[in-house]
Amino acid sequence: MPELDSRLRSTFEEVLRRNPGEQEFHQAVHEVLASLGPVVSKHPEYTDGGIIRRLCEPERQIIFRVPWVDDQGDVQINRGFRVEFNSALGPYKGGLRFHPSVYLGIVKFLGFEQIFKNSLTGMPIGGGKGGSDFDPKGRSDAEVMRFCQSFMTELYRHIGEYTDVPAGDTGVGGREIGYLFGQYKRITNRYESGVLTGKGLSWGGSQVRPEATGYGLVFFVDEMLRSRGEGFEGARVVVSGSGNVAHHAIAKVHELGGTVVACSDSSGYVVDERGIDLELLHEVKQVRRARLHEYADSAGGDVRFVKGGSVWDVPCRIALPCATQNELDADHAKTLLSNGVAIVAEGANMPTTPEAVRVLAEAGVGFGPGKAANAGGVATSALEMQQNASRDSWTFDHTQDRLAQIMRGIHSSCLATAEEYGSPGDYVTGANIAGFTKVADAMLSLGVV
Ligand code: GLU
Repeated sequence: MPELDSRLRSTFEEVLRRNPGEQEFHQAVHEVLASLGPVVSKHPEYTDGGIIRRLCEPERQIIFRVPWVDDQGDVQINRGFRVEFNSALGPYKGGLRFHPSVYLGIVKFLGFEQIFKNSLTGMPIGGGKGGSDFDPKGRSDAEVMRFCQSFMTELYRHIGEYTDVPAGDTGVGGREIGYLFGQYKRITNRYESGVLTGKGLSWGGSQVRPEATGYGLVFFVDEMLRSRGEGFEGARVVVSGSGNVAHHAIAKVHELGGTVVACSDSSGYVVDERGIDLELLHEVKQVRRARLHEYADSAGGDVRFVKGGSVWDVPCRIALPCATQNELDADHAKTLLSNGVAIVAEGANMPTTPEAVRVLAEAGVGFGPGKAANAGGVATSALEMQQNASRDSWTFDHTQDRLAQIMRGIHSSCLATAEEYGSPGDYVTGANIAGFTKVADAMLSLGVV
C-alpha cells in the first residue's frame, strides 16, 4: 500500500486496531485517506477537529438475529446488519446486500464508500449500508418472503424516511424490497413510502430506478470518452457480472453504439461477438435463475461459454467491472492493458484491487472509481425520495434526464477537484476529495456530535 500523509497515519492505525480482521473496510478507508494528503495540508481544521477520525467510526452499528422457517419446516438462523455510518448531509442512505459473504467488515466498507458516493451526487443523503449472510440462491419465493419479514421485524425500529432509508444491493431487488416494505407497513401501520427505495412503480417507486446504476455508469463513461474526444460508437466493451447493474449497463452501451461482447457470473463467462442478447440474458438469469452456460446453450452458433475463466481475458477498449469487490486484480489489469484497454470504470463497489488501480493509472488508462461512476443508482433513489415526499411521480424521460445531468455533474466535479489538488485527470483523487470536503464541512458546522 502507498504511504499515507503523516497526519493521517495514526488515524489509519486506529482503524486497524479498532476493526480487527475487517480487510475490506481497511482497504476502503486506506484508499480514501491516501487521497487526502493535499487536503489536510491546506485545511488543518479537518485533522485538528477530529473530522477524519470521526468519519472512520460509524455513528451506529446494529447487528441482529434473523430466525425464519424454511420450506422443510426447519429453523434457519441468519445474521442481519445495518451500519448507520454518517448523517451529516441527510438521513443514512444505502442498500441492503443478501449474500453468504456478508459480515460486519463488508457492510462497513460499503457504508464507508457510500458516504462519499452520496455526497458526490449533490443530494441530501448520508451514508449507510446493511444486509445479511442469507443466501437467496435456490430459495423459494415463500422462503425469501419469510426471511425478509423476519429481517424487517427487527430493522423497522431503526429506519424511517427522516432517519435511514435502505434500498437494494446484491441479492436484493424489487421482489425483496416488496416483502420488506409490506412488513414495514404492517408493523408500523404507516404507508411511509420514503422509508425504502427501489419500490415498484405502482406503490411509490420511481421510473429509471432499476436501470439507474447501469445507465448512470455508461453516462459517466460517455463523459470520460468525450473528455478525450471519443465516444461509444464502434467501441468494444466487456462487462463483468450479469445482474441488475451489468444488464442495464449493457443496454445503454448498445443504445450509444458500442458492443458488449462478454459478460460473466460466478461460474464463468460468455463471449458473443454479435453483442450480448439482453432478452436471452434476462430469460436465463432472471426468469430461469440459471447459470450463464445456458445462455451459450440457447444461443448456439459461435457463442462461447468459458467455465471458471476470467472475463478480463477478453480483449476490449472499455472494461466495466459490475460484479463484486476485488474481482479485477493486477494480473487482470495487465492482461487488459496488453489487449489495448483505454478505460476501466466500476459499476460494482470496489471491484478493482488497489494494485490493479495502480497498474492502470501508471499506463495512463482512464479509471472511473465506483463512488463516482456507479453513483447513479443511489442518486435515483434520492429522486425517488423526492417524488415520495411530494406525492408525485415523474416520467421516464424526465427522470433519466435528471440522472444524466447528475452523472455529468459528478464527472465535472471529479475533474475540477483533481485539477485543483494537483492531479489532473485522476478521478480517484477527484472523487475522494470532492466527496470528502462536502461531508467534512458539514461535520465542522454541526459540532462534535
Ligand atoms: N446499493 C446501491 C449502491 O451501492 C444503491 C443504494 C441506494 O439506492 O440507496 O449505491
